[in-house]
Amino acid sequence: MANVRIDRLHKEFRSHGGVVHALKELTLDIADGEFISLVGPSGCGKSTALRIIAGLETPTSGRILFGPRDITKLEPRDRNIAMVFQSYALYPHMSVRQNLEYGLRKRGVAREERDRKVATIGAMLQIESMFERKPRQLSGGQRQRVALGRALIRDPEVFLLDEPLSNLDAKLRVHMRAELAALHQKVQTTMVYVTHDQLEAMTLSDRIVVMNHGVMQQVGRPDEIYSRPANRFVAEFIGTPSMNMIEGELRIESGKPIFTGPGMAIALPQASLHMPAAKQATLGVRPEDIALVAPDTPGAIAARVTVSELTGAERYHFVTVGGGSVIIRTPASTVLHPGENVALGLHPDRLHLFGGAGEDAAALR
Ligand code: ATP
Repeated sequence: MANVRIDRLHKEFRSHGGVVHALKELTLDIADGEFISLVGPSGCGKSTALRIIAGLETPTSGRILFGPRDITKLEPRDRNIAMVFQSYALYPHMSVRQNLEYGLRKRGVAREERDRKVATIGAMLQIESMFERKPRQLSGGQRQRVALGRALIRDPEVFLLDEPLSNLDAKLRVHMRAELAALHQKVQTTMVYVTHDQLEAMTLSDRIVVMNHGVMQQVGRPDEIYSRPANRFVAEFIGTPSMNMIEGELRIESGKPIFTGPGMAIALPQASLHMPAAKQATLGVRPEDIALVAPDTPGAIAARVTVSELTGAERYHFVTVGGGSVIIRTPASTVLHPGENVALGLHPDRLHLFGGAGEDAAALR
């Protein structure tokens, strides 16, 4: 087991079209036994980061250390890592048992020890009954478990997982997510997990790294990333439905910060005064932080319902406020009808203030 230090990692790809900066000065300390996820939109550099840690790609500059060892220049096989990909990459002509023990055989591990390890991993992942089957005789979830088993059996210092659940259907994905979490609890190996699925990252990780255009935007615990996004990109990327972003202006009235946007004037906590007043600003509000209130409530915002969607346990209501559109999230029992007039109240402690559109100011809190 090892802590992983990623030190000013930079990666440029040169092609006929020019230079792509896939990673820009990525620096990150991953604790021994930590489960850390790299998330971000397609092309943000998360797979490149993982492939460099694995040794499948050479960085343009920067270093990687496992504990005290600088492994930047080591071959993948000398790094003591195990990787699980989106495609399970099992050998189709080999049985489950043969797939599991292949790496051990190659390293000349004696038969007795191989058998012992295969039995342990088989029991851990509950695949013992499938040892003699070929991969094509397994379901997607079973195949993925074998792929995890094949990685685990090597007892790696660091586990690297690149979208390992993305080939599974939605239900199986949720199931395997829970299995993966339980597995990590059991083996306590450092895991670096790449996904574009923020829910996977939120539920599995000790910490999440949010990336965009090769640049780390924020690193933190899932609750920190959700409730205190460092900037507008993180605020919009994490959370479904996305945080509402309302464009307006910040000014000071009688010494108090006020945000004015279409159809609303919101008194903000004093903390937001660190932003220059009389400035273009964006107010971020999560859909669950907007309450339906009585119309005569002081500060209530007048809105009109356009569409209501039932998702099962919840409803998403799309409302117009002063010409703009906002999404509200409520329990399914809150029924609203298109055309209905409603009054909204914003939770003052859960507002996020960013710079105007195109800017990237810090959040309110
Ligand atoms: P996805 O979720 O789509 O896999 P990603 O966040 O994992 O995306 P990367 O695969 O790390 O993104 O790619 C980062 C950037 O580097 C992209 O702009 C990509 O086009 C570019 N890139 C990746 N590999 C190469 C390569 N071998 N040659 C040239 N450009 C590359």
